[in-house]
Amino acid sequence: MQMTIHSLEEKVLEVLKEVHDPEINTVSIIDLGMVEEINVQGRVVNIKILPTFLGCPALDLIKKNIETTVEAIKEVEEVKVEFIYHPSWTSDRISEAGRSGLKAFGIAPPPRLMDTDGSWHVDCPYCGSTYVTMENIFGPTACRSILYCKNCKNPFEAMKPISTLM
Ligand SMILES: [Zn+2]
Repeated sequence: MQMTIHSLEEKVLEVLKEVHDPEINTVSIIDLGMVEEINVQGRVVNIKILPTFLGCPALDLIKKNIETTVEAIKEVEEVKVEFIYHPSWTSDRISEAGRSGLKAFGIAPPPRLMDTDGSWHVDCPYCGSTYVTMENIFGPTACRSILYCKNCKNPFEAMKPISTLM
């Protein structure tokens, strides 16, 4: 029995790799570090998700996508998706694959280190230059900023760093 339960959890994990942020289709919720827990009780799957950026409109859609995707597994009878806020999601949870997925989408991954004054720096996702300016701190959503690369002259988006220290 233990073996069966274990493999269903693995199946759930496997299909969750196909659930993407609706706005950034190159990055899965696994790579974003959003999935905190997968718990299988018989045929009921409980999934705990850490919301990423507060104010991002995609959460309901992500929840719906998780439910649809996991319910498609034939052993699964019910899926419960819960958003939890502890531990808090931080941009450090994004995996290496997630960081390259963001780059492939033209979004600079959030910087890992911040200056003590709270400012942050990103490299251009196109040419890797550090010579970028913060063109407009208000991007299309609360979680992204528009920056401008002075080296290759491309505007690009950057994900804001979110840390529990902020
Ligand atoms: Zn550039």
